[in-house]
Amino acid sequence: MNPDYVADLRRGIASGEVRPYFQPLVELRTGQLSGFEVLARWKHPLRGMVPPDEFIQVAEDSACLGQLTTSVLLQAFAAMQPLSEHLRLSINVSAVQLRDHALQRLIALAAEQTRFGLERLTVEITESALVGNVEHARSVTEELKARGVRLALDDFGTGYSSLRHLHALPFDEIKVDQSFVQTMQMRRESRKIVAAIVGLGQSLGLQTAAEGVESQAQADMLQWLGCDLGQGWLYGRPMPVGKLAEYVQDAKPSITGDGRQLPAPEEAAFPLEALPSQRLSQLQAIYDGAPVGLCFVDRNMRYVSVNKRLAEMNHAPIVAHLGRTVEEMIPNFYPQLEPFLRRALQGEAFSGLEVQADTRDGKMHIRSTSYQPTRDEGGEIVGVSVAVLDVTERETTQEALKESEDHHRFAVALNPHVYWTADEHGAVLEAGPRWTELTGMSADEARGWGWAAALHPDDLQRITPEWESSLSSGSPLDVEYRIRLVDGSWRWMRARATARRNQQGRVFRWYGVLDDIQEHKEAMERVHRSQTLLEGVIQSVPVGMVVVEAPSGRLVMRNAQAASILDCYHIPDGLRLGQAEWLCFYDAQGKQLQRDQYPLQRTINSGEPCEDQSLQYLRPDGRVIWLTVSARPLRDAAGQMIGAVATLRDVDQEMCAARRLQGQAEHTVPMTKSAAV
Ligand code: C2E
Ligand code: CA
Ligand code: CA
Repeated sequence: MNPDYVADLRRGIASGEVRPYFQPLVELRTGQLSGFEVLARWKHPLRGMVPPDEFIQVAEDSACLGQLTTSVLLQAFAAMQPLSEHLRLSINVSAVQLRDHALQRLIALAAEQTRFGLERLTVEITESALVGNVEHARSVTEELKARGVRLALDDFGTGYSSLRHLHALPFDEIKVDQSFVQTMQMRRESRKIVAAIVGLGQSLGLQTAAEGVESQAQADMLQWLGCDLGQGWLYGRPMPVGKLAEYVQDAKPSITGDGRQLPAPEEAAFPLEALPSQRLSQLQAIYDGAPVGLCFVDRNMRYVSVNKRLAEMNHAPIVAHLGRTVEEMIPNFYPQLEPFLRRALQGEAFSGLEVQADTRDGKMHIRSTSYQPTRDEGGEIVGVSVAVLDVTERETTQEALKESEDHHRFAVALNPHVYWTADEHGAVLEAGPRWTELTGMSADEARGWGWAAALHPDDLQRITPEWESSLSSGSPLDVEYRIRLVDGSWRWMRARATARRNQQGRVFRWYGVLDDIQEHKEAMERVHRSQTLLEGVIQSVPVGMVVVEAPSGRLVMRNAQAASILDCYHIPDGLRLGQAEWLCFYDAQGKQLQRDQYPLQRTINSGEPCEDQSLQYLRPDGRVIWLTVSARPLRDAAGQMIGAVATLRDVDQEMCAARRLQGQAEHTVPMTKSAAV
């Protein structure tokens, strides 16, 4: 240790050159300022700004750390005086400070002198400070906790046995180290680590904070992963005391779109229900583009995610929803929605339930709502996905319903599909002019059950029970049948219908559409015919043949020859190459091949053919045979690889066959390869 440096540091501390800088911590969900972390800076008269990594270590070693901490804390606490009481402060403490009780006294004294409430304070402890120091740290932190101070585990994930440390002290918060945050867009592993840390925090009921957030994309991802707080250059660099007031003034206050101040959610300190991150990103993609209002609410009926359309309908920005209950956001609708939300949380699904109420724009709105329970991997219900359509324009009264049917009818006339409506008993009310065009039946003739006369008798018999079952259960209808056209020919149609329900959940209308699927059917038949042909060809070639899809590697076809060579006759449906554990190949030297060295797999991975590879294959019956394997990619018209085909030839078998053909034994083919096995 350089004694001049130590003396200089002591002088610096005494003359107030070591100052607290403040870096904002922001609630990711709402963008609201949560507080600041204090980072020490030494503004040296000659050397300029000295970073803490350099002088904190010196202070530790030279026993002036207490002096430094006191000075920084006094300045920091005093700086918080004029600011809102909701803003918190986090400070860093060193390993040596966790060894004696001076720290606790020093914090309490500084707080008293500046009248700073210790319940606003969070003490950050790095993992490395805990190594070999857990017992002392426990007794020091217990006293702090008794005074209302929160504890955060800093740089989580970078040290040894993070989990053990998390368990050792009563932490309230975990700070995800910036090294993970900054690489999580490029590296899947980092993303997984962040997701795992956040998940861990959630399941232990701890708040999670991410350090080093530099871009909005990182912030978005962290929010989707369920992280609570963000800190980093995106929100602000560490700033001196003089900049604090201005920063706080400009920081985003908690307001909804209409400027109304919402009370902070009661349990704001508790993180939302954990959800698999993958599902969240899927939801996100669907949500963003949907023209219907969509949201996901957790078991406490709090919004976990909301799309743009629903936010518009509710006249509040997306972030104003997150973490708040449905009741808080749409109190007028809530009494009508509540029973269905509760039942959906018990596992029931509902669709097309209509509710009506005044919204924030002061107008009465009718909404058609659907509820789908969502389960986690374990089958437990984690919440409900809700879809909302505003149908106010379509119907304000029973009369408007009629109008909407007129509208429906109008749309029908312009559309090649046949639209139809039926009452709750299945009697057709209207079949659309195109039905008349196709079948020659008048609109009157088609009503009720009249339409059935146009159906092929075989099909009518087949679909009637399906229609009846939909009528009694309210589940959607989807059937195919032939109808007789004006010219006497038959044409395949596909009929689909969904039920419309009233507030009590009772079906009162069926809305159907009929599509002409004749050409589709014919095309399918052509495909089927050529597939049969192709299969015929594959089965008749004298070599083994295996066809797989790309990139999945799913087995599509294999001929009898391949089955006999590989000694494998039953391949389960949907099997992928990678899952076929009994497939065991060795190279010419007898070394077992890795799965990605198998010819078909190589072709799928590279898109390149793989010619005449000599391999040994261990058959399930225990025999080892020599194979010549070739694989080629299969491409569609656009050149995209859609699969790969492999040919397998059993070398020994072919040699024997060749010998038999020659009908003589004088010319013995060398069997070196077989002998080598
Ligand atoms: P830390 O607690 O992990 O603090 C975060 C560090 O990351 C700070 O460096 C901060 O300036 C930096 N940082 C914040 N946001 C970003 C970002 O978006 N991108 C990047 N690249 N960096 C960001 P700093 O201020 O140099 O502090 C270094 C370490 O020194 C701190 O790490 C903390 O452990 C320690 N330290 C700082 N002040 C004190 C103090 O008063 N007492 C003690 N014992 N340690 C302190
Ligand atoms: Ca820290
Ligand atoms: Ca840190």
